[in-house]
Amino acid sequence: MTADRTAASGPVGTLGATAVLRALPSHATRLGTGFWSARVAANAERSLAAGLERMTEAGTLENLELAAGTVAGDAAAYHGKLPFLDSDVYKWLEAVSWHLQSTDSAEWHERAESVIALVGAAQSEDGYINSFVTVKHGGERWTDLPSGHELYCAGHLIQAGIAHHRATGRTSLFDIARRFADLIVAEFGEDGRRVGYCGHPEVETALVELYRETGDAAYLRLADRFISLRGSGQMGDRPFGRRYWQDLVPVRELRALHGHAVRAFYLASGVADVYLETGEPALLDVLRAQWDDLLRGKTYITGGSGARHRDEALGDAFELPADRAYTETCAAIALMHWAWRMQLATGEAQYADIFERVLYNGFLAGVSLHGDHYFYVNPLQVRGDSTLGPQGRQAWFSCACCPPNVMRTLASLTHYLATEDADGLQIHQYAAGEIRTETRGVTVDTGYPLDGNVRITIPQDRAGNWTLALRIPAWANGTATVHVNGEPVEVGDADYVRLTRTWRGGETIDLELPVRPRLTQADPRVDDARGCVAIERGPLVYCAEHLDQDTELAALSLSGRPWDGAQLQIADTTLPTVLIDAAAHAHDTKEPWPYRELGTKPGTAPTHTRVTAIPYFAWANRAYGAMRVWLPHEDAR
Ligand SMILES: [Zn+2]
Repeated sequence: MTADRTAASGPVGTLGATAVLRALPSHATRLGTGFWSARVAANAERSLAAGLERMTEAGTLENLELAAGTVAGDAAAYHGKLPFLDSDVYKWLEAVSWHLQSTDSAEWHERAESVIALVGAAQSEDGYINSFVTVKHGGERWTDLPSGHELYCAGHLIQAGIAHHRATGRTSLFDIARRFADLIVAEFGEDGRRVGYCGHPEVETALVELYRETGDAAYLRLADRFISLRGSGQMGDRPFGRRYWQDLVPVRELRALHGHAVRAFYLASGVADVYLETGEPALLDVLRAQWDDLLRGKTYITGGSGARHRDEALGDAFELPADRAYTETCAAIALMHWAWRMQLATGEAQYADIFERVLYNGFLAGVSLHGDHYFYVNPLQVRGDSTLGPQGRQAWFSCACCPPNVMRTLASLTHYLATEDADGLQIHQYAAGEIRTETRGVTVDTGYPLDGNVRITIPQDRAGNWTLALRIPAWANGTATVHVNGEPVEVGDADYVRLTRTWRGGETIDLELPVRPRLTQADPRVDDARGCVAIERGPLVYCAEHLDQDTELAALSLSGRPWDGAQLQIADTTLPTVLIDAAAHAHDTKEPWPYRELGTKPGTAPTHTRVTAIPYFAWANRAYGAMRVWLPHEDAR
């Protein structure tokens, strides 16, 4: 392992000693005007400010002041019941840090520093920080590793500290985080006093990143130690069982993920990070097995995972209910973290495909278009009178893990678009903007995913001999076209088109991805999708929302290929509601008894109507009510 810190920064995988692809420095990519610039602007202009207000209202910030003693109060004064509220502050600080990379706003620097000062004041002499333990438990540390979240919170603090350092060059938060990390190494490292690991993985991936940032291998060794100890049963047989904590089987023997989805994917991300630095083949081997198992029957078409409400857990294979889907927004984010690391580790397009699917669907549905209301749970069907929790997106939650997780993801989205290797630059996700490394670079103009045209231009100062690799998404396999300076290039069924030449400034590459609508059906073992289709268009999964239909949503069923001659409208580019009018039948909803003998006809013949679908990510922005992704179709088996 060598720590080449001149490779500069990036969200993850910066050094990645064994990575096939290298993450770009965090400042290498900037967004231009396009689909993502609007969402990232909403995040910067509304989500971050609203997040600070919500954390103030919830007492999350005052908890740090109680811990610091700058506000007087005993355990009863602590705000909230959960032990991990500090992590909301850290995720918010991480988001603000990445935002500060694209603006030199004195106001935002000031806001960040004032919150960092609260964190610093809450830090003990020896580096420890956790307001819940300090205020509620009289400072009794590490007494509840399964549920206490002390190391989980530390992980988010470390990630925030690294983000702030990379984005701004400042060390105010980084120094706080590193002092805590050093205490954790002293407590839990090979020579430490304790042998244990956290009930909620997260610190593992943060420690590897801290190793990348500092070159100090103690952090990497501790991350390896945490994943190696896991599976020894320390979490005990609590109500949800050892699978909930990923604690039933040692990590190197774990070939299928079960239990709490966010824990499972954060752990897998940590394992992937350790692999990226150590190159231990057994780790990549189990990660591939876990990934394949997940994709085979535990992932929704939206890329969401974690079907079960009871323990926020992955279900059994094909246990993917549409209306009872839990699919926490954080699980989508965690799967993106894991997919990204697998992509760096292998260079394989399949991981970027899933990253894209989650990004545009399971993840993006978690935040309103305006940027200040959130879904924690992301079902694929709502009947309109759902009793599953609150109606519609909420401004905040008593367990507010998702909103600041969304904020940090959108603020760092540019980190996940492209990578580099010895040969050149690889573009995995298409967004309008500019990508510039030391010697290579491109500008990208595109309305993707609303349209499928991507124009890439070589800037004058990035000419030279190198390979530009463009990912062809799996859904466009065999139908994408590429032109270089107007001349067609053979694409075939490649998952990456690799263009090697001596690039001159001003040369253009046109990638066309046919984002025509398509119908997708599921394996019949996905019971809620049996006999149904989903409408997809490009990377977007669509849904039918009650307020666009002429008839009751539950009674609709499709026949034929409904968009032959269908209209396609983009109603508003700032609120990108794409409408597809389709032929459909609406069944009579007044039948007195909903069952009948096989082979008999319903009392009333279906009547012709039409269905309008919008991107799933945009649902529940106009009103909250019935919605479904899977639509019955007469040809679906
Ligand atoms: Zn969450």
